[in-house]
Amino acid sequence: MTSQNPVFIPGPTNMPEALRRACDLPTMDHRSSAFAEILHPALAGVKAVLKSTEAEVFIFPATGTAGWEAAITNTLSKGDKVLAARNGMFSHKWIDMCQRHGLDVQFVEVPWGEGLPVDQFAEILAADTGHEIKAVLATHNETATGVVSDVAGVRKALDAANHPALYFVDGVSSIGSMPFEFDAWGVDIAVTGSQKGFMLPAGLAIIGVSPKAMAAIEGATLSRTFLDIRDMKKGYEANAYPYTPSVGLLNGLKLACDMIEAEGLEKVFARHARIADGIRAAVKAWGLELCAVSPDLYSNTVSAIRTPEGFDASQIVSHAATRYGVAFGAGLGDVAGKVFRIGHLGMLTDVMALSGIATAEMVMVDLGLDIQLGSGVAAAQEVYRQSAASMAMAAE
Ligand SMILES: *Cc1c(COP(=O)(O)O)cnc(C)c1O
Repeated sequence: MTSQNPVFIPGPTNMPEALRRACDLPTMDHRSSAFAEILHPALAGVKAVLKSTEAEVFIFPATGTAGWEAAITNTLSKGDKVLAARNGMFSHKWIDMCQRHGLDVQFVEVPWGEGLPVDQFAEILAADTGHEIKAVLATHNETATGVVSDVAGVRKALDAANHPALYFVDGVSSIGSMPFEFDAWGVDIAVTGSQKGFMLPAGLAIIGVSPKAMAAIEGATLSRTFLDIRDMKKGYEANAYPYTPSVGLLNGLKLACDMIEAEGLEKVFARHARIADGIRAAVKAWGLELCAVSPDLYSNTVSAIRTPEGFDASQIVSHAATRYGVAFGAGLGDVAGKVFRIGHLGMLTDVMALSGIATAEMVMVDLGLDIQLGSGVAAAQEVYRQSAASMAMAAE
């Protein structure tokens, strides 16, 4: 597959050239002051992206999955009850991890394509007057189904029940691309990774931890060593890590945060919303439907697109790769073969998005689907033309 084409998978995302270069550093002593000048700005940059003044940020040489594990093992004990919902592959995997750690997971089965069951959570939390539930887990953006959930709504449910449970949010495919409010939403631990909104290679698990979650660490008895936040905190105080950090990736993260700040966080969100609008206009023009069941659930970072009954959607992914050298996302778990995914997060522009839409059309026509070449492209072009024109007017 050619590396000239952008990828349309929902992570790892396309890398800006400047970030690739920032990751490519000569060997450095990771206990020197030069490292401190990479580490601390990277931590501060993440904190700004989380929109938090109170979070402590920790970055492990790992991936988002380790961020889930850091959240639960640092704050919970064997047998603790946690509340979750299963509405896609990523929420499913987080639940599985909790079970393997011996947590008692109360989870609500939600049809894939729907969001977090905020009302059901509210009832469950209100009924839990003995406060047996120690943590609530929320997947902000289900990357498998292209569904964004109401993270603020779950916080409201916790507050309405006056419930003291910790609140953990998987923001791996939303943070840095869609509005995320660590402080305003009362998040206790936010989890992300380097290879999605931060536009870097995989290799960093990034978490923000509230003072309340920090206070839970001493009493928690699940075992952790590599992911022990206490060791990491002590390391940072000495401008170092408890082991060897990924210096190049951290330097990339520092620059990624600078780039997001330079573009403006709100403008980054608006760009993702606009690009996603164009993708959705194309899907509509094709006569296809999204896996997400209603517009309030539409993700601005990934669209999972249902293909007609009897058609194996995974063919789209393999044909696009072999014939055109373009990567789309396959359906996962319960929706494997039923959807294909267009990832539209990271450094994407309108023009790049148009190339992905055009490629998807060629692929679907090749495979015999009843799609008009150019129909989705034209629909997206209208969206992008109009928003470009109104941005130009606003700038005048
Ligand atoms: C990608 C992703 C993960 C997993 O992250 P890794 O970095 O692959 O471990 C977890 N949750 C969501 C929502 C994701 O999109």
